[in-house]
Amino acid sequence: MSKHVTHWIGGGPAKGGAHRRGDIYNPATGKVSGTVDFAGGAEVDAAVAAAKAAFPGWRDTSLSKRVAVLFRFRELLKAEAGELARLISSEHGKVVSDAAGEVQRGLEVVEFACGIPHLLKGGYSENVSSGVDAYSILQPLGVVAGVTPFNFPAMVPMWMFPVAIACGNTFVLKPSEKDPSASVRIAELWAEAGLPDGVFNVVHGDKEAVDGILEHGDVKAVSFVGSTPIARYIYENAARTGKRVQALGGAKNHMVVLPDADLDLAADAAVSAGFGSAGERCMAISAVVAIDSVADELLERIRTRVADLKVGPGDDDRSEMGPLVTRAHRDKVASYLETGVRQGASLPIDGRVHPVLGGGEDGFWLGPSLLDHVTPEMGCYTDEIFGPVLSMLRVPSYESALELVNANPYGNGTAIFTNDGGAARRFQNEVEVGMVGINVPIPVPMAYYSFGGWKESLFGDSHAHGMEGVHFYTRTKAVTSRWLDPSHGGVNLGFPTSG
Ligand code: NAD
Repeated sequence: MSKHVTHWIGGGPAKGGAHRRGDIYNPATGKVSGTVDFAGGAEVDAAVAAAKAAFPGWRDTSLSKRVAVLFRFRELLKAEAGELARLISSEHGKVVSDAAGEVQRGLEVVEFACGIPHLLKGGYSENVSSGVDAYSILQPLGVVAGVTPFNFPAMVPMWMFPVAIACGNTFVLKPSEKDPSASVRIAELWAEAGLPDGVFNVVHGDKEAVDGILEHGDVKAVSFVGSTPIARYIYENAARTGKRVQALGGAKNHMVVLPDADLDLAADAAVSAGFGSAGERCMAISAVVAIDSVADELLERIRTRVADLKVGPGDDDRSEMGPLVTRAHRDKVASYLETGVRQGASLPIDGRVHPVLGGGEDGFWLGPSLLDHVTPEMGCYTDEIFGPVLSMLRVPSYESALELVNANPYGNGTAIFTNDGGAARRFQNEVEVGMVGINVPIPVPMAYYSFGGWKESLFGDSHAHGMEGVHFYTRTKAVTSRWLDPSHGGVNLGFPTSG
């Protein structure tokens, strides 16, 4: 039966028809599995109004009660993780175990947010002048919004809303229209956890919904994750309307392999990080930068591993890599193989001929590919491909590898593979990239650190989650106070409790 996904506003599914709808696909079969309502100005207004109405009550809810809701949400999400992973896989295409991994990483941000009382502590200075004290408090902003990409329909929204809500804000999420169901299931779990109506809302749709958020005077901050052109657009337009904004963009992540690296480890890493989730990860490795002397050997080890990779439907336990998200995206990714060869690269691993386990003939399949002898001016290097295509660039030295990475306009993630601690330390110091792995191919920071790139991978000042997330979703107020006649509040023999 075909499903129908609608907005979640003020604690329940939105009522009334949609003026526009989009199709939801099962990428493994290539068939439409349902429809999703697209929000226009009226639905965005309704969601923001619900969030605005809920804000005073939620802001004034004690920290203890807020945390109790977060803990309940965490338990429900954990219990639901398997089902949520299946739901994600059915719309995104990634294998269920990979989808479970993203739910787990989102859950870790919820766990981080459970510590919010500690994170919201301000400072206090006694007697800054005679009888005068000074202190600072962190207060929520109000209604804040998140706009998120298709590739992590659970994890990326959870980089945002657990921290925002824990800080006392109310939230409007605009998830990707390609895989919208996970966000609605998450809204239901929040309601079950006892989150008051209107604190978490979801509007679906495309540019029209996003523009409604950007232009809305009651939205105080926007968090965005997606491609660089849209990140730049969000940054400029949210700032123009006076909002706080963090906009995380696209990536071109390099993996540098030095001659002393463990080549089995490096080949495992290149295959896992290049082809996991069909390369549709902002932290996927897309460029392998090998020092000349080890490039041939590394390529052979990658080739052997790729030959064994099982490509198939996300819900087939044997599959290690699923289909791409849409037909158009699959065709675009495949086109880089042709243009790469036309521009002078070789194609020792061609994913177009990789076998597919079951799945529909019309599924959006493309197996893992590797273009070799890629040079920096080729389209397969200058563009973010966002699919299962590794480009191998051969360089003579560490210095030339570093120069290549630093010349790239993106600066999301990178990794170096070496057994030389000095070289690794020099790389972490010199590379102009926000997240660095040393013999670790996908260095996604834990929830208590912050996630974010440099250069064209981030517009704005704050990274996501961790302390930068807490700062993004709060404003600091500095208070200077003098009390000449302190009152103690009367007699109360009860044991002091919060509440
Ligand atoms: P996208 O930029 O096409 O879409 C992201 C969001 O913006 C979606 O909700 C979409 O509906 C909305 N949107 C699309 N076009 C718009 C427009 N013209 N105006 C306003 N809003 C618009 O990205 P995607 O294809 O969903 O996701 C893949 C991209 O996201 C890749 O570039 C990837 O690198 C990036 N990404 C980055 C990070 C990071 O942390 N830096 C994480 C995940 C994904």
